[in-house]
Amino acid sequence: MPAVSAAPHAPPAEVPQYHTHLRAPLTTRVGPDPHVKVHRVEIEKVRAGLPVEINPSVGDGFRVMSWEEWAGRFKTSPEFPECLACGGTNTKEHYFTQTWCRGERAWECESLCLDCLQYSFRGYVDPGFKMPEEAEKERWEALVAEQARLALTEA
Ligand SMILES: [Zn+2]
Repeated sequence: MPAVSAAPHAPPAEVPQYHTHLRAPLTTRVGPDPHVKVHRVEIEKVRAGLPVEINPSVGDGFRVMSWEEWAGRFKTSPEFPECLACGGTNTKEHYFTQTWCRGERAWECESLCLDCLQYSFRGYVDPGFKMPEEAEKERWEALVAEQARLALTEA
């Protein structure tokens, strides 16, 4: 018997990515303060001109840093480089997280613009997305219900 294969007219499989084929609008926030909680303490210190911990991969101790130096440890997002305030691309992504569950995804990212010092937050959730724990719980509940139904029909 021949192996089951995709229909000849099917397009080549594309590796799904977090930022492509979005099925819902993005949630965005932009302003002088970060929307996400990470790095807030350091951001306040850089803003106040207080010493910040040196990136452990570079050295140790604390140093007063410019925004360029502090943000130098982060990369510009290749997918979303634009600042939502000034439209420039001199940005550094200081936060990114994504969760995939059964092909549905949720993600958040935030970049600091080194030109205007505004934070651009973007968040996305696929319609129907469930956290893995939630999906697992539903799977178990369905299984338990099915077992109960079978037990009843066999009785
Ligand atoms: Zn900007």
